[in-house]
Amino acid sequence: MSRDQRTLAREIGQLLADPAHADNPLRPALAQLWQAHEAQQMRLERVTHLSDAYQMLARDRENALGERFTKHMRRLEKLARISDRYQQMMQDMNLALNEASHRDVLTGLGNRRLLIERLKQETVRAARTGQPYSLAMLDVDNFKQVNDTYGHEMGDQVLIEIGTAVQMELRESDLGGRWGGEEFLLILPATSGPAAMQVAERVRTSIHNLVVRSGTQAVPVSASIGVSTHSAGEDFSHTVSRADAALLEAKRSGRDRVVYADDDTQGA
Ligand code: GH3
Ligand code: MG
Ligand code: MG
Repeated sequence: MSRDQRTLAREIGQLLADPAHADNPLRPALAQLWQAHEAQQMRLERVTHLSDAYQMLARDRENALGERFTKHMRRLEKLARISDRYQQMMQDMNLALNEASHRDVLTGLGNRRLLIERLKQETVRAARTGQPYSLAMLDVDNFKQVNDTYGHEMGDQVLIEIGTAVQMELRESDLGGRWGGEEFLLILPATSGPAAMQVAERVRTSIHNLVVRSGTQAVPVSASIGVSTHSAGEDFSHTVSRADAALLEAKRSGRDRVVYADDDTQGA
């Protein structure tokens, strides 16, 4: 109620209470009008009160909803972070698994699985570019004797050192891996026969010059190598077979040497 309204209310109250106006013919009408006004005023106050209470309730509910939403969002963010970490972990584990399944545990070189995958890739690449790759199949000479004379652990040591020697002689783009047992396969991309023969000869010399000691004794180490060059349209397994055949020839003709799979050994 404003100040003017309060003053008017006071004046009306005084007029109605004044006995000097008791007989005024307007008095009963004014009294009735005043009562009606007061009743109206009370109703208005009640409605205002109710509306205030309702607004407060709505505000509280809105706040509570906002809080719940923020909490929910925080929980979701946390879950997303956990899921990201988990996915990263899975990716790392997959990489590690993939790496482990392509490595030879003893020498740390690629294993047969990796070699075969690379053979397939190089065969596709050779068909596309017209540049052939060459292979060098290497087998340690008289290795059984090394095991028998110096023990299996010494044999393992020889394989590790041969692995390192092979790796040292290769270019970044080449791949040297363990084919199995005491056999290693070298894949030389975009390499002609003569160039591959040079690499194989370097590897053979480096293995021949290895000094592996068992106590005071020097363990004799050498390897024979068969080299083949992929010819257009040939299945990679055939290129491997030709390198194998050349290797057999190197063994037959005295070991510790490199033989090229020319037309004579092709398909043997
Ligand atoms: P050749 O000159 O004709 O190749 O004779 P070799 O004695 O090397 O060939 P052979 O196939 O008779 O023997 C290979 C030996 O290599 C037999 C096998 O026990 C041994 N060998 C294969 N893998 C491993 C290995 O991981 N560690 C050790 N220490 N020996 C192995
Ligand atoms: Mg062998
Ligand atoms: Mg051997």
